[in-house]
Amino acid sequence: MRGIKLPKMGLGTKPFVRGITELGDGAYCWLAPDGSWGWSNAGLITSGDASMVVDTLFDLALTADMLEAMKVVAPATARHVDVLVNTHANGDHCHGNELVPTNRIIASVAAAAEMDELPPAALAALMSTVDKDETHLGRYLRHCFDAFTFSGIAHTPPTETFSGRRQVQVGDKAVELIEVGPAHTLGDVLVYVPDDHVVFTGDILFIEGTPIMWAGPVQNWIDACDLIANLDVEAVVPGHGPVTDAAGARAVRDYWTFLRDESRLRFDAGMSVRDAARDIDLGAFADWGEAERVFLNVNTLYREFGSTDIVEDVFGLFSGMGELWDIDTD
Ligand SMILES: [Zn+2]
Repeated sequence: MRGIKLPKMGLGTKPFVRGITELGDGAYCWLAPDGSWGWSNAGLITSGDASMVVDTLFDLALTADMLEAMKVVAPATARHVDVLVNTHANGDHCHGNELVPTNRIIASVAAAAEMDELPPAALAALMSTVDKDETHLGRYLRHCFDAFTFSGIAHTPPTETFSGRRQVQVGDKAVELIEVGPAHTLGDVLVYVPDDHVVFTGDILFIEGTPIMWAGPVQNWIDACDLIANLDVEAVVPGHGPVTDAAGARAVRDYWTFLRDESRLRFDAGMSVRDAARDIDLGAFADWGEAERVFLNVNTLYREFGSTDIVEDVFGLFSGMGELWDIDTD
């Protein structure tokens, strides 16, 4: 092959396989197909023996597997990780915190507060209530979360918090933490590594899966997609799904502008959340996984529009999504 210049493989075409993928120059991601509920990605940034881990996984066994794989590519992480960053408060990005050998965990102020409100024990308790529940709610929650073990996880909150932007040194690399929430959750943060031309987006990006907007406002999410699309990066690592590039950020942006406008039309026409979620023809977005999240997304948009007739509790939200999922799978 000497003398033949191989075409540079587009990072958007990196295979979506479980495990560590090298992004070049000491940056790695952990990918977890199929990217649906709880199957989240994570990151590792190294410079010499210094390291930063971006997010842990949904339970201890998954996180232990990931840390073992990280030791293979970065042996120093077996003894010490300089810093762990949690991109947001959802358990599939922080439940494994206790296993990382570090004394430094960073998240946004808003994400840290949200973690305290929903500790791992709360999810374990939620699942125990629907053990044999054959309603939409029970069936759907088991479909989403039965593969994970939420008992015995020690709530391990951040040791440092920030708002806005924060720069963290990892060996020779200056890593930028950029708060873009509230959007997906109350305290979403991007982890941008200019030296590596990589950004870890947390759940601001779901690729080939439907994004889910717990918090909003939607404009923050749209702005975050624009920010990502305009970064000088070669690899964009989403919270769920395969590695992408600016096109992935634009696709998520397109979902939100479409859903915002379609929801607004139905809100103005006096349609309920449930009816609007069924009435909207998702078109090309219907091919993305977890399309039933449209129920929760319309609900969050209606709240933003000032509706008083919305679902406020987590049981109602999962029940509404479960009803759409049951229709799809029956
Ligand atoms: Zn997630």
